[in-house]
Amino acid sequence: MSTTSVTGSCLCGGVRFELTEPATAAGYCHCTRCQKRTGAAASAQARIDGRTFRLLEGEELVRGWRPPDGGFEKCFCSKCGAHLFSRHPGDPTQMSVRLGAFDGDPGVRPSWRAYLAYAAPWEPIPDDGLERYMEAKPR
Ligand SMILES: [Zn+2]
Ligand SMILES: [Zn+2]
Repeated sequence: MSTTSVTGSCLCGGVRFELTEPATAAGYCHCTRCQKRTGAAASAQARIDGRTFRLLEGEELVRGWRPPDGGFEKCFCSKCGAHLFSRHPGDPTQMSVRLGAFDGDPGVRPSWRAYLAYAAPWEPIPDDGLERYMEAKPR
């Protein structure tokens, strides 16, 4: 028996959040911003409806960075640096949560790879059958 995790936290534990409904869609983002902020080849993240997201603890620790030329605000814990979620600056219903931020199995599995035009040169794209997009995956 497995239960789907709807809670998440940062590395230091100061920030805790929950979803009121499990995430239903996820993918890998290979854009250069995700490479920089994760330090990895891609960011695995679930797309969620921001109305299902609730910060339980550590709101004062959460900092956001808004790219000057637009795009989702990247939110992280200012104490430990863990990247947690991102959100559309003008539409609070559009959010993504890093899969690694969940405390357990979020249930959802990545089903696409986006921004492959900018993929890291040092890691081949796995031949895993996921949907592929050179730019953004359409919402
Ligand atoms: Zn933290
Ligand atoms: Zn990205």
